[in-house]
Amino acid sequence: MATQLSHVAQQDQRSQFHPFTSINDLKAEGPTVMASGSGVRVRDVNGKEYLDGMAGLWCVNLGYGRQEICDAIAQQSQRLSFFHTFNGMSSDVVAECSEALLARAPVPMSRVFFGASGSDANETQLKLIWVYNNLRGKPEKKKIIARWNAYHGSGVATASLTGLPGMHTLFDLPKGPILHVSAPNYYRNAPDGMSERDFSRQLAKELEALIEREGPDTIAAFFVEAVMGAGGLIPPPEGYFEEITPILKKHDILLVADEVVSGFGRLGTYWGSQTYGYEPDLITSAKGVTSGYFPMSAVFISPKVWDVIEAGADKVGVFGHGYTYSAHPVGAAAALAALKLIDDLKVVENVADVGPYMMQSLRDRLGQHPHVGDIRGKGLMLGIELMQDRGTKQTFPMANRTGRQVLKAAAERGLITRALGDTLVFAPPLIISRTEVDEIVDKFALAVDDVL
Ligand code: PLP
Repeated sequence: MATQLSHVAQQDQRSQFHPFTSINDLKAEGPTVMASGSGVRVRDVNGKEYLDGMAGLWCVNLGYGRQEICDAIAQQSQRLSFFHTFNGMSSDVVAECSEALLARAPVPMSRVFFGASGSDANETQLKLIWVYNNLRGKPEKKKIIARWNAYHGSGVATASLTGLPGMHTLFDLPKGPILHVSAPNYYRNAPDGMSERDFSRQLAKELEALIEREGPDTIAAFFVEAVMGAGGLIPPPEGYFEEITPILKKHDILLVADEVVSGFGRLGTYWGSQTYGYEPDLITSAKGVTSGYFPMSAVFISPKVWDVIEAGADKVGVFGHGYTYSAHPVGAAAALAALKLIDDLKVVENVADVGPYMMQSLRDRLGQHPHVGDIRGKGLMLGIELMQDRGTKQTFPMANRTGRQVLKAAAERGLITRALGDTLVFAPPLIISRTEVDEIVDKFALAVDDVL
């Protein structure tokens, strides 16, 4: 992106160890350093403007520089900059935020547990699930099933849960009681001619076979993203959740909805589970809860799980889990402002309108391109898979190279996208207008033409 490295880019390059970044690429190209943002746009230190087609990392749902959230953060920082929630302590704004979140849950929920990231929230989920089964007198029921290509975080346990081998190798992660089943990738993995519904049945059979092989009494929970994000933007095939959920119920297995990306409107309903009609026992949320203005996560605990924990209170004693920044008052203030804006600005309704418009525009513009294999997604979570030959679904010989080239060409044209291998992804701020979507599609189509 930047050809001549600015002073700050050099500073960054020699001092920061970047997450999820190729050390070689960073050395060769230097970082792109942002300096400001407003609405759907950000500006780098050289003054170049970009339309942020990724809302940061699928999180700045309400756009940059939103005055109401900035004011809420500033005022809360002055009034009570920190207080904790250990040992029964709390703060007024946290109490209000907890209730506001429960009021927005897709199904009745009993409690929220706060953290600072999606990863720590999923670590909390694992502990809750294990406590739940210990208290129910089912100490063997501890294994967790996730899916290949899932992304559930970067912690030691949550990276194991994540179904991306690149996050397992080299890190010596303890395998733990974690199992994976196939990703519901219809485009890539369904046999030729098989319907989506039949593919869903096949995936459900695979899941049930694994449960039976391992023993249902050993399986505690199944983790799902509504649409898989970081693992390649994979929406479920038709009927997927309808096929899966009865199996989980039959074998007394908890359904954990990881709504870190899909929560708070991204798919055109408030929660991803509402788009696909399933009822989670536990929900993980983060990112959009503060629109990325403050690091915060919230785990939602259903009555089914909470009642067991509450009934076991004597055994539990002091619940031995939590983070210094669990329920940070400044985060709670940011969340309250963000939740109000989601309602006031009719953000979910906007996604329900603009999402299908963006999908159609991408299909109209790129659907026949010889190197565009698949355009997929839901709401404002869309992916375009590039390939050598769309007819045979032949991928490019060097994985990731073409995707990165298109990403760079788009950046040259002032558009931020993300390359997950050769799938380019869009998850723009949810307040985006149709005109701004037109700009994304124009710039992106030109970037594809620049490279292919
Ligand atoms: N779960 C999902 C579905 C995610 O996409 C992410 C991050 O992108 C996480 C969990 C982890 O969140 P964090 O990066 O805040 O730890």
